[in-house]
Amino acid sequence: MVFMPRPIEAVIHTEALAHNLRQARAHAPDAKVWAVVKADAYGHGIARAFAGLQGADGFALLDLSEAHRVRALGWRGPILLLEGCFEARDLETCSRLNLWHTVHREAQIDWLAAHKTQAPHHVFLKMNSGMNRLGFTPAAYRSAWLRLSGLTQVEGISLMTHFSDADTDRADATSGIARQWAVFEATTRELPGERSLCNSAATLRHAPENAAVRGDWVRPGIALYGSAPDFPARSIADWGLQPAMTLRSELIATQDLQPGDTVGYGSRYTAARAMRIGVVACGYADGYPRSAPNGTPMLVDGVRCEMVGRVSMDMVTVDLTPVPAARIGSEVTLWGLGPGGAVLPIDEVAHAADTVGYELMCALALRVPTVVAD
Ligand SMILES: *Cc1c(COP(=O)(O)O)cnc(C)c1O
Repeated sequence: MVFMPRPIEAVIHTEALAHNLRQARAHAPDAKVWAVVKADAYGHGIARAFAGLQGADGFALLDLSEAHRVRALGWRGPILLLEGCFEARDLETCSRLNLWHTVHREAQIDWLAAHKTQAPHHVFLKMNSGMNRLGFTPAAYRSAWLRLSGLTQVEGISLMTHFSDADTDRADATSGIARQWAVFEATTRELPGERSLCNSAATLRHAPENAAVRGDWVRPGIALYGSAPDFPARSIADWGLQPAMTLRSELIATQDLQPGDTVGYGSRYTAARAMRIGVVACGYADGYPRSAPNGTPMLVDGVRCEMVGRVSMDMVTVDLTPVPAARIGSEVTLWGLGPGGAVLPIDEVAHAADTVGYELMCALALRVPTVVAD
């Protein structure tokens, strides 16, 4: 039996990924680019995103299984494990798949020292320059470097840190990236090796004017997928980025409301006037945020409309006032690219729902059929 699916699908835009990668590169022209594809390429699917991102110099991710998938796609270039090994036996996989890996704590050096390998490993030594998540403190960093450089299992040590505030506008000496950058510079000044500091926000905002911050490798993630890391201060249009994911559906019903009629669970929305609403085949079980309030933007036949009523598991409702011609079957763009070239950045939906584009794209549900387009 062949069943017709619900009229919902996600589209991954290959050319947009390639375009966004070029944009990231343009902001850090002499640096190499790690395309960050953790979390299954931020929900896009590594295999689906690969065609668009294969112009990168390397792929950075977290999971050994993700690394395996990138190798299975035929990628022979660098792959970096951003959190390194989680246990000693992961090093065998690193040797077998030729993975570079982050070293952020002492035990990872112990494991390397005990590891038997034909080919020595390339590691990225991570400094905790102030974010206090992963990495050696500045005080411990040089001795970690010395220990690693004495191991026959290690052939190259790159230097890495990660910024907590690269997306903010403050530019005084103690905020934004300034303090962490100063710590990293002072600690690594006499150490050889390539450097990597910049996530998307730092790549777009700080790499162009500062070669030392740019370093040898930048590590953009979110920008590649068409979300502005510093929204709402700046939008994807401001950064010249394009949506890499569209979530689209259709109207499966319409309702004519009289003043005082309410919509959906909890009667969250009450019509103040006679109006027509549409019912969209997309709900929180598809990854649409249940926290989206009345007024969250949505495109119907490419026209900007507002969501009304509470998001339910399989449906959301939308005020059709701006698009009187809408009918059952009309195309609804939850985010991404609409008909006629209309764009609804995922950032606008995320912002309305009090979250970030990252969370929405990563939460795209498995049940949504996903296709790859040019
Ligand atoms: C996720 C991640 C990145 C990419 O961050 P974006 O904000 O998505 O650009 C870069 N570096 C590290 C260490 C990361 O974990």
